[in-house]
Amino acid sequence: MAKKQFKAESKRLLDMMINSIYTHREIFLREIISNASDAIDKLCYLSLTDGSVGMKRSDFRIRVSADKENRLLTVSDNGIGMSREDMENNLGVIAHSGSLGFKNDLDEKSADKAKIDIIGQFGVGFYSAFMVSDAVTVISKAYGAETAYMWQSSGTDGYTVTECEKDGVGTDVIMHIKPDAEEDKYSEFLDSWRLQELIKKYSDYVRWPIIMTVDNWVERETGETDDKGEPKKEYVNEPQDKTINSQVPIWQRSKKSVTDDDCKAFYKEKFHDSEDPVAVIRVNAEGTVSYKAMLFIPAKAPYDFYTRDYKPGLQLYSSGVMIMENCADLLPECFRFVRGVVDSPDLSLNISRELLQHDRQLKVISTNLEKKVKSELKKLMDSDPESYEKFWNSFGTQLKYGFVSDYGAKKELIKDLLVYPNSFGEGLISFAGYVEKMPESQKFIYYAAADNAERAAHLPQAEQVLDAGFGLLYMTQDVDAFVVSMMGDWDGKEFCNVSVDDLGLETDMQKADTEKKEEENRSLLDFVKDKLGGEVEAVRLSHKLKTHPVCLTTEGEITLEVEKYFRSLPNGTGEKVTARKVLEINGEHPAFAALQKAYTEDPERAEKLAKILLCQAKLIADLPLDDSSEYAELVCALF
Ligand code: ADP
Repeated sequence: MAKKQFKAESKRLLDMMINSIYTHREIFLREIISNASDAIDKLCYLSLTDGSVGMKRSDFRIRVSADKENRLLTVSDNGIGMSREDMENNLGVIAHSGSLGFKNDLDEKSADKAKIDIIGQFGVGFYSAFMVSDAVTVISKAYGAETAYMWQSSGTDGYTVTECEKDGVGTDVIMHIKPDAEEDKYSEFLDSWRLQELIKKYSDYVRWPIIMTVDNWVERETGETDDKGEPKKEYVNEPQDKTINSQVPIWQRSKKSVTDDDCKAFYKEKFHDSEDPVAVIRVNAEGTVSYKAMLFIPAKAPYDFYTRDYKPGLQLYSSGVMIMENCADLLPECFRFVRGVVDSPDLSLNISRELLQHDRQLKVISTNLEKKVKSELKKLMDSDPESYEKFWNSFGTQLKYGFVSDYGAKKELIKDLLVYPNSFGEGLISFAGYVEKMPESQKFIYYAAADNAERAAHLPQAEQVLDAGFGLLYMTQDVDAFVVSMMGDWDGKEFCNVSVDDLGLETDMQKADTEKKEEENRSLLDFVKDKLGGEVEAVRLSHKLKTHPVCLTTEGEITLEVEKYFRSLPNGTGEKVTARKVLEINGEHPAFAALQKAYTEDPERAEKLAKILLCQAKLIADLPLDDSSEYAELVCALF
C-alpha cells in the first residue's frame, strides 16, 4: 500500500527529532501520557454530561507496558480515541505549526540550538516518540465508532492508516524502541524501574491512574520440608497491577507539600514556556464559592501574544475534570497574559460558553483573582524590581492599553502598576514612586515624550526641570499620551508635558521680564513668524530654555507626539492631523542676539537665520524637514 507523506513541516520536524542530540529525550513518555490523559479528560467530560457513554470515573486509566523481548513499549488509554480522519489530521501534521514557521529562517549553524528550542518551548507531543523509537503504531477506536484504525510509521518516509480490530474505545501507542548504540542505551525505556521513575518524575500529577504491571515476589511454602522438618519456602513472581502516580493535581495539593520549583516546572511543561514565570499565585478559597487556583505570571510574552492568534484564558476544572481549555471570562482583558488553572467543585459541568459569562460563581472567582493578580504584581514591583522590569518589558504595553481602554473601566486596578523610565536613574518608577520623590516646592509631575528615553532626556525643554532638581518621567509610547489624559492627576498633582505646558518654574518677576523683552522685540518676532510662512502658529521668547537656542512647543490638544503618530499611519490617513506649533526662542542665547543684529542690519540674513532656527527646532523634536537640502544650503551660506 502506498505510504502517505507527512505534511512538509512535520517532515522537517521529524527529521530534527530523529537526529536530535537532545539529551532530554526521556520526555517522550510524558508527552505520550499527557495525550492519553487529555483523551480521557474528553471522554470523562462527555460521560458526566451524557449518561449514554456508560463509563464511570473510576473506569478510566492509562496503562504502560514494556515487552523487552520484542522491544515494544505501549501506552494505552481508554479515552475518546481517534477516527481515521483524526489520525490523518492529528498525527500526519504537527499541531503547533506556528512553532516551526517561527524558526524557518535559521541557518545551518544554529540548527542544533533550534532543535532544543523547539522541543523545549513547545513540547512537540506525539512526535517525540520518534526520539526513542524506529517505528510507531497507533491503534485507536473513537468513541461511538464501530471500526478501529491502525496508523503506522517508521519515521520520515510517511505513514499508513488501515482498518484493524480493537476491543473497546481508546488508543494504544506502540513504540518499537531503537536498538542500543554505543552511547545511546535505548533499552532503558524498556526497563520497569526506569519507566516507573520517569512516570513519577514527569507524570505524577496526571489525574488518571497510570498503571503498570510490576514484578511482585512473594514468599510461599513449597509443600515440602527441609532437613530440620521446617516447611520449605520459595519466592515466586506474581506480577501485580500498581498505580505509579499520585494523581493529585499539583493545584489540589497543600501549599506545604509543593515547592516553588515544583510549581515552576509544572508551569513550563503545561504552558510550553522555557523560562520560569516571574510569579506563582496560589489560591485556596472557601466560602460562598470554593475553589483552588494556581496562576502564573510569565516572564516573557509568547511570540504570538500581541496577535489575534493568542488565546487568553485560564484552564477551568470542576473537581479535577477539565471543562474549558481557555476560559477568558476569569480575568479582565488587561491581565490576559496570566496563565493557570482554576478548579472548583461548585461549577456546573455542562455550563455553556454563553452561560459562563453570567455565572454567579464565576463572577465571584474572577473578582477575587483580579485582586490577587494585582496585589501579586504590586508585591513584585516593590520587592523585586528586576523581575518586575522583566515582566514590564513583556507586558507593560498591555497594561497601558488596559488602563485606557473601555473609558478607563480598569483604571483603578491598573494605575499603581504603571512604571516609566525616568531621570532618577534607578530603573523604572511608578507614579506613586515619583510623587514620593517630589520636593515640597515641586508643583507638577513632569514628563518628556519622545521615541526613546534618551531623546526625551535630551529635549531642550527638559533642561530647566532637571536643573531645578526635579525628576522627569520619559514617555516613549503612543499610548502614553492617553494614559496621562486618562489619569488626569495623581493625588492632586497634575501632569506637565515639558514640550507643551508651562513648566511653572519661573517667578512672577522672571515672567514679567521675559514678557517685557518680548514686547520690545515684537516686530522681530512678527517678522520671523511671517517669514516662516504659516509653519508655526506663533513665535515667542521662551520661558523654558536654558542652554539651547530654540525649541518647538504646541498649543491645543494635538501634541507633536500625536502628530507623529498620525503621520506614521499607513496611506497618509493621518495627513490632516497637525499640531499647532510654537517656535520658542531663547532670548538669552547668542543666537538670538545674532538674529536681532541681522534684523536691523540685513533682513535677508535675518530671514535665513529664522529658517535655520525652525529647522533646528524640528530636528531636535525629531520631526522631518520638508526640504533638507535647503536647510544644508542655508547653513552653508553662513560660512
Ligand atoms: P498536542 O497534544 O499538543 O495537541 P500531539 O502531537 O501530542 O499535540 O497530539 C496531536 C493530536 O493527536 C492531539 O491533539 C489529539 O487530538 C491526538 N491524539 C494524540 N494522542 C492521542 C490519544 N492517546 N488519544 C486521542 N487522541 C490523541
